[in-house]
Amino acid sequence: MSRFARRALFALAALVPFGLGRPAAADSFPSRTITVVVPFAAGGPTDTVTRLVAESMGRDLGQTVVVENAGGAGGTIGAQRVAQAKPDGYTLLLHHIGMATTPTLYRRLAYDPVGGFETIGLVTEVPMTLIAKKDFPATTLAEAVKVIRRDQEKLNYANAGIGAASHLCGLLLMKAVDAPMTTVPFRGTGPAMQEVLAGRIDLMCDQTTNTTEQINSGAVKVFTVTTPERLPALPNVPTSTEAGLPEFQVGIWHGLYAPKGTPAEVTARLSQALQVALRDPKLIARFAELGTTPVAQEMATPAAHRKFWLADIAKWKPIIQAAGQYAD
Ligand code: ASP
Repeated sequence: MSRFARRALFALAALVPFGLGRPAAADSFPSRTITVVVPFAAGGPTDTVTRLVAESMGRDLGQTVVVENAGGAGGTIGAQRVAQAKPDGYTLLLHHIGMATTPTLYRRLAYDPVGGFETIGLVTEVPMTLIAKKDFPATTLAEAVKVIRRDQEKLNYANAGIGAASHLCGLLLMKAVDAPMTTVPFRGTGPAMQEVLAGRIDLMCDQTTNTTEQINSGAVKVFTVTTPERLPALPNVPTSTEAGLPEFQVGIWHGLYAPKGTPAEVTARLSQALQVALRDPKLIARFAELGTTPVAQEMATPAAHRKFWLADIAKWKPIIQAAGQYAD
């Protein structure tokens, strides 16, 4: 080794304690805008949660975090985009329970729905509500069930595609009341809500993050929340147990993902920013208005998220297989 090379090596080694020995990508992360893909249309619940989280994370990361909507096929189009993106932490996915149902529901996908992702952290759990167009001829869940059973052939039910939260909730409802309805898929429940407001869709089950304000303003009817307890944001809405349909219960969780192979230092930094965002009083207050709360800090970590996600995949697998209803 030449004297020059030896000196250069010595100089480099001296810099290691100052962090220059770690991969440059992780050290300087983030140095530019981050994109979070929402696998549903703008204006819906996943979009709303993501925009609030992105804004707050951006402040902690010192970079802009933009939201991009890539809706369609129950969230699989947006998920595929992220699974196939460069694993550098600049393209992320904020998705919901669909990440746990897709691996079983979709037997043919152009990406790996489990192995294609790194977890960053869980974000929130959101209750669902069963809503109807304003002039739906019922006011209570019991009355709505009667109408659904009587008019099942004429009624339509909106969802955001197979595997979407609205799809799962609709399946539960139809099973509980033993009455299938025509389902109309949308790229997200944001656009579907517009159709409920216009009176062209009769019923929808959607996260409170999309329905609370429409319910409280009287723009739509509500029959029940799908949680064991009433919600402070919707104190007059009965739980499904109170309303006489205890088996109609479902909660929707959201998580933040990066493409497989994203460096652990990068996902750790993103998880840290997520935890800061979830403690932001402004975000907490807005979440509360929308009937939801952030997850506990220890759940907003890559390891806790992965454990929860894999357990939920295992939970849904036998249910989907028993129903024999696949997306293909
Ligand atoms: N709430 C939707 C669903 O049914 C998706 C969305 O638009 O956020 O999964």
